[in-house]
Amino acid sequence: MEKNKNETIVIPGDFVGTSEEFTAGNGVCAEEGNLFALQIGEVSVNEQREISVLPAVETPPVIKEGTVVVGRVEDLKEMVAVVSLACVVGKEQREIVAPTQAVIHISNVKTGYVNELQQEFGVLDLVKAKVIDAKALRLSTEERDLGVIKAMCGKCKSELKRKGNVLVCERCRREETRKISYDYGKGVV
Ligand SMILES: [Zn+2]
Repeated sequence: MEKNKNETIVIPGDFVGTSEEFTAGNGVCAEEGNLFALQIGEVSVNEQREISVLPAVETPPVIKEGTVVVGRVEDLKEMVAVVSLACVVGKEQREIVAPTQAVIHISNVKTGYVNELQQEFGVLDLVKAKVIDAKALRLSTEERDLGVIKAMCGKCKSELKRKGNVLVCERCRREETRKISYDYGKGVV
C-alpha cells in the first residue's frame, strides 16, 4: 500500500492527500485540510504518517579542486586546449549540467616542456584531467594516470592504438604523439 505512494511523481500544486490522512512534511503544504506538493518529486510517507515530496532529480556532481573529470577536446588554441566536460570520474552516470567547458593551459599538460599543444592532444580526443581551478575551470593532465585515454587518427579517424610512447593507426600506419594517460585504451574512465 505504502509502496504505491512512493512511486508517485508529483509536480507543484498536485494534491497528495488530506490532513486527516497525513501530516505535511518536506515539500508539502496544507491548505484547508488538503495537502499539496510544493516541488517536483516522489511522494513518500513515513511511519508517523508524515507525507513528503522528495526531489526526484539527483543533484549534479560538484566540480571542485581535485575532482577528476573526463572530457572531449573541442579545440586547440596556441596556449590552451578547450575541453567539453562529459562526466566526473566515479559518477559517470550523472551528467554534468553546467558549466561544461574547461581549459587545459599549455603549462598544465605535463611536467616536461610542451612545444606545441598539437603534439599532446588532438581534437575529439577523450581526456582525463584533474580540476586545478574550479572557478575558472582549469584542468591539469600532469599526473601519470591523466591525459588522453582515447584518440583518433588525424587522417582516417580510426582509433589509435598505443605502442610504447606513441599512438599508431593500424589502418593507415600514421604515428601520432599525445600526452597519454597510463589508462590509455583500457576503456576505464
Ligand atoms: Zn589512420
